[in-house]
Amino acid sequence: MLKTKAILFDATLCVGCGECYSACKHANHLPETNSDYLKDHLNANTFTVIEQYGDIYVRKLCMHCLDATCVSVCPVGAFEKTDLGPVIYDENKCLGCRYCMQACPHHVPRYEWSRVNPRVRKCIMCYERVKNGDQTACAEACLAEATIFGDRDDLIEIAKQRLAENPDNYYQHIYGLEEAGGSCVLILSPVPFDQLGYSTNLPKEPLPTYTSKALEKIPGIIVGGGAFLSAMYWLTKRKNQIAKEEKQLNSTKH
Ligand code: SF4
Ligand code: SF4
Ligand code: SF4
Repeated sequence: MLKTKAILFDATLCVGCGECYSACKHANHLPETNSDYLKDHLNANTFTVIEQYGDIYVRKLCMHCLDATCVSVCPVGAFEKTDLGPVIYDENKCLGCRYCMQACPHHVPRYEWSRVNPRVRKCIMCYERVKNGDQTACAEACLAEATIFGDRDDLIEIAKQRLAENPDNYYQHIYGLEEAGGSCVLILSPVPFDQLGYSTNLPKEPLPTYTSKALEKIPGIIVGGGAFLSAMYWLTKRKNQIAKEEKQLNSTKH
């Protein structure tokens, strides 16, 4: 049986060098989007970023959820959770409805607003490399070993060991072990995760399979008799928020 692969990112080891960022750009043939990588944001041509919080550097990228909401809400199966772990995307199937963007609890997928035939864009955990038995480009590039790649079960054991062996260095939690049902990106940090811009108000159980159910589970949606209207309200609000973010990003680039 195939073992689920994963990435372990340890913020206590990250020196903010940007090698993972550059390796991702190179591996995915992505153009430069900001001359200062620490100021870049996730966008259609940036699948991972490094953010600085005081003297702590953290990575943001698709979490490759075990039970991914982007997969469950996509009406045409353009998103797929592979047996190996990566959540991948098929642009040929995509309708452009962008439900995936609105439903993602980690606010990851981005859209190519400026293209005639826009695609949804995000990290695909170097699926071709992983399929060939290689590690992801970002893990390979990280000399500090702040980003490592391997079997999810092994990485969980490594993470637990680090928490136990150096309790003073770590906030005692593995982010991604249980959030929204768990993910194939696991994160360790010296401080609580809400201080580093990660979503911490997610349920432990997987977000359900059906769109409306999934939307009810996302924090901020009012559940009850008006669940559908609430979901539509949230979808519209999130759509406008995403469009505004993309517009701001585009204007800072020009
Ligand atoms: S390559 Fe490693 S140490 Fe450098 S920024 Fe990325 S995760 Fe941090
Ligand atoms: S983080 Fe978002 S885009 Fe990535 S797999 Fe999970 S739901 Fe999908
Ligand atoms: S796994 Fe691959 S696509 Fe994802 S951030 Fe790392 S290098 Fe980029």
